Amino acid sequence: MFNVLSRLADMKLPPIGRLFSWGPILILSIMGFLTYMVFYFVEMWWVPSQSVGGMVHITVYCITTLSSLCWFLTASFTGPGRVPRGWTPPNEAAVEYLQYCNTCKAYKAPRSLHCKKCGFCVKKLDHHCPWINICVGHDNHLYFAIFLTFTLLACFQAAIVVTTCLYHAINRGWYIQQGLQPVISLSSSRLMLTMFATGLAVGAVVAAVFLLHGQLTGFIKNFTEIEGWVLEKAKYRRRAAGLPAFVYPYDMGWKENLKLLLARDFDGLWWPVRKGCSPKEMMDEQKAQKKDRESRFFVCNVSDEYDGARVPLAAYPRAALAPPLSLAPRLPLRLGDCVRVLVDGPQWMFGVKLTTEGQETGKRGWFPRAAVYTEEDLEDAQIDAQTDTQTHTITNALTVKTKSA
Ligand SMILES: [Zn+2]
Ligand SMILES: [Zn+2]
Repeated sequence: MFNVLSRLADMKLPPIGRLFSWGPILILSIMGFLTYMVFYFVEMWWVPSQSVGGMVHITVYCITTLSSLCWFLTASFTGPGRVPRGWTPPNEAAVEYLQYCNTCKAYKAPRSLHCKKCGFCVKKLDHHCPWINICVGHDNHLYFAIFLTFTLLACFQAAIVVTTCLYHAINRGWYIQQGLQPVISLSSSRLMLTMFATGLAVGAVVAAVFLLHGQLTGFIKNFTEIEGWVLEKAKYRRRAAGLPAFVYPYDMGWKENLKLLLARDFDGLWWPVRKGCSPKEMMDEQKAQKKDRESRFFVCNVSDEYDGARVPLAAYPRAALAPPLSLAPRLPLRLGDCVRVLVDGPQWMFGVKLTTEGQETGKRGWFPRAAVYTEEDLEDAQIDAQTDTQTHTITNALTVKTKSA
């Protein structure tokens, strides 16, 4: 008895708190809402208690939805896997090129990255997922893909149910006239709700297909979302620099890649590489790309204050109509502030605030482009002003000439 109690005391509770964030709440609400709509409609459309087909249909839906929920919780609670504190590479030479993380007090294992939101170095970081409210990495990558697969199946079935019932409800008169079944009657508020559910289900299917396609491609070629971007950029960078094509060191062939994905005893810290390759090559490529990127950074000054509003309709209407598709914070600006611009868009910029000595403050985020001016803008304004002055002088001279004539 005492043993059982002590074992229960040793058991770790799942990190339930992780679910209390807008991402998981939204996902669970969508799942709940679509399930409610499916159950509401099957009673009118394909009644489970009246046919085997109807029973199979609703059973399949319940299985896919419950599986989606289980894998969602598994992906979130398992977490991405962190690089252990004090980790050093098994190969001593790697200490030369691996970065050291001062927060985690460990070397950054190949393919790992420090996630600021999670607060630790994540093994084979794919991306930080707001829906499961934690990163997707080595430990939960497969679970995340299984969650997407079941979500796709459940949402596809829900989309068919709500779309068909919406069609029947809109054409109710015709079905009655023809004496065809089922006749679905909906009040105007229910009709609106069904339209909303249709949009939601179809949107979820499209999003799941898009995400799952990315994940499966990554599994077959053994690259993460971040590594995929690096490989894409490497193509253009190396072509422009006249360098030979980049050989991705972690692609061991699809069979070996899938074996590594499914091998639950592999810790995901020190990855095998292709013959003749080294993890250093990937890091060198990333460093070269970072250098390229940094050479394009520039500093700008604040010309109009910005209060950090996500939709600054009154102050910056153009920017408000084209907000950046990013959850990153907005950066409030005051007159006299200086910002280093890291991403330069047509309406919004992403940057980091600088001190008066030109050091980065750590405060970073998006702000409207119209709130700042760059050295280039200043030069353009000076040229315009000079042109205006010259035009003005010429016009004056011409006026005087005409008068005297
Ligand atoms: Zn770290
Ligand atoms: Zn994270």
